[in-house]
Amino acid sequence: MRTRLLVVAIGLLSLFGAPLHATPDGPEPLAEYRGSRLYLELSPDYNARTAATVERWVRFLGTALLQAYGRWPRAAWRVSAAPASAPGTDPLPWALVHRGEVNTIEFYTAPRVSFEELQRAWTGYHEAAHLLLPYRGWGDLWFSEGVATYYQHILQARSGVIDETTLWQYLYDGFRAGRADERWQGQALAAIGSDAGGKGADRRVYWHGAWFFLTLDVRLRRQSRGELTLDTALSRLNTCCGEAQMSVPEMVQRLDRINDVVLFESLYLRTRESVAIPATDSLFASLGIDVVDGRVHLQEFGPGATLRRGISQARAL
Ligand SMILES: [Zn+2]
Repeated sequence: MRTRLLVVAIGLLSLFGAPLHATPDGPEPLAEYRGSRLYLELSPDYNARTAATVERWVRFLGTALLQAYGRWPRAAWRVSAAPASAPGTDPLPWALVHRGEVNTIEFYTAPRVSFEELQRAWTGYHEAAHLLLPYRGWGDLWFSEGVATYYQHILQARSGVIDETTLWQYLYDGFRAGRADERWQGQALAAIGSDAGGKGADRRVYWHGAWFFLTLDVRLRRQSRGELTLDTALSRLNTCCGEAQMSVPEMVQRLDRINDVVLFESLYLRTRESVAIPATDSLFASLGIDVVDGRVHLQEFGPGATLRRGISQARAL
């Protein structure tokens, strides 16, 4: 979903309101990994049981985000969670990412929700994956939504929430839904403005962006014989520039430079002028994926299968 800039005129401590984990010295992190800290602010409107469920899920989500870089993108990040005012069937009906000194994901959950429902919802992984890129400011919405849409299912697979076949089925279904989205038909991605957000809408924007990142991931792995992956490439960008605000043209130029490739900028320039999500038949076939009547079937052997398995493989933490 959309990102928005948090105007940070307030310090970290004052962001916390009445934290559950307060200590005399300040808020205590919910979790720590390699010196990075995850903070949680839970609404007092939860009952005790749901509060415990949401806390357990935020821990799980934090671990899932480690599956991209093997570390969190920043030294500190924060999740806030509150029950949504209107009851509904969606476990996570609304979420926002606030970019600031401490990036914050603000979740609204169903008032009573189970751990399994939260764990299955793609929204959580999607929002967390937004933190993999530096804040882009305005423009090129498809780029940040694309990285979040690609990684939302990659993180689910690497965390064991879905199996490898389901991952590729989700990607196949997503690209198909993106092509069927008629709202922006015939328009170049670059022409689609920042007002294209909204949950469930604008599949073209989200999935055209996801196509871009899948294509890059496969090319990087293939060209480097598995040495370089999208995880590695983006992790390097995060190391140099994670706290910066960069335009997308700046990001792709930097990505090419720090990874010593000629790939990101050229594909970015072509993709932003592209008016439809390209066909994925040959891409899927090159990964050892057969599609019969809309269902994916994974080949077990062959170079395509090996490369494909690398994409969903869990990282040892
Ligand atoms: Zn998003």
